[in-house]
Amino acid sequence: MSDWVKGQVVGKQQWAEGLYSLQFDAPIHAFKAGQYIKVALDIAGERIGRPYSLVNAPQERPLEIFFNEVNGGSLTAPLSALNIGDPVWLTAAAGGIFTLETVAPAETLWLLATGTGLGVYLSILRSAEPWERFQRVILVHGVRQVADLAYQDLLAEISERHGERFRMIAAVSRETGAHLLNGRITDLLTNGELETIAGATIDPATSHVMLCGNSAMIKDAKIILEARGLVRHRRQAPGHYTTEQYH
Ligand SMILES: Cc1cc2nc3c(=O)[nH]c(=O)nc-3n(C[C@H](O)[C@H](O)[C@H](O)COP(=O)(O)OP(=O)(O)OC[C@H]3O[C@@H](n4cnc5c(N)ncnc54)[C@H](O)[C@@H]3O)c2cc1C
Repeated sequence: MSDWVKGQVVGKQQWAEGLYSLQFDAPIHAFKAGQYIKVALDIAGERIGRPYSLVNAPQERPLEIFFNEVNGGSLTAPLSALNIGDPVWLTAAAGGIFTLETVAPAETLWLLATGTGLGVYLSILRSAEPWERFQRVILVHGVRQVADLAYQDLLAEISERHGERFRMIAAVSRETGAHLLNGRITDLLTNGELETIAGATIDPATSHVMLCGNSAMIKDAKIILEARGLVRHRRQAPGHYTTEQYH
């Protein structure tokens, strides 16, 4: 993954304070929905690169990443200061196995994300595979504040395209409101609210769950899922959930 190609920023969007998407034009190799590339900048004579999931579907260009500025982080502050036309380094080859290729057959695909973990699912949802392989897809996006609910227009388009087969649920943990599901994803899993709203249950006979985001959510969700009989999916032993931990 250290085969760098030069790219250029061709689009930038700020969704909320410290929350951005950047679009790049760069000659990277073909990739699968769910994979990541490394994005790097040369800072004080050193190339600083970090992995970011691709948000665009494999057949779409420009390339796109969705990220938040991390306090004291080495790359995200300079990354969020980039503007259209600025140069950037990307790895030519994408990597990672958080793809539908590694997901066992199921009726319902649950996609659980915290924060920028949403991005990886936007690539998957814009590819044909989930709609060929699953009867229903339920996306749950956990954020702290309503302002962090990015990509609402795109999600509305996906909803319109797939009707009842797609359900989008936003869970907001630090603001309350009449039309919001309030709380952390893991608490809403424990108290059953998430499944009530989704009109579906998470069980090993019918479900595969993908988890993407921060380590606390993934650690707690694994405990909850395993208590219900779901086991981690492994290449040699098909299971019911897969994870991608960002930090
Ligand atoms: C496979 C993979 C895919 C990833 N994809 C994405 C993505 O699509 N979008 C995205 O925003 N991030 C993603 N990340 C995280 C990303 O690679 C960086 O770690 C993050 O952007 C911080 O980089 P930095 O150089 O600014 O901070 P660093 O200097 O590397 O880290 C500073 C500290 O902040 C912590 N940290 C890292 N990320 C966060 C965060 N989001 N919130 C709070 N603390 C954090 C680190 O653990 C570290 O302790 C991914 C990570 C992995 C492993």
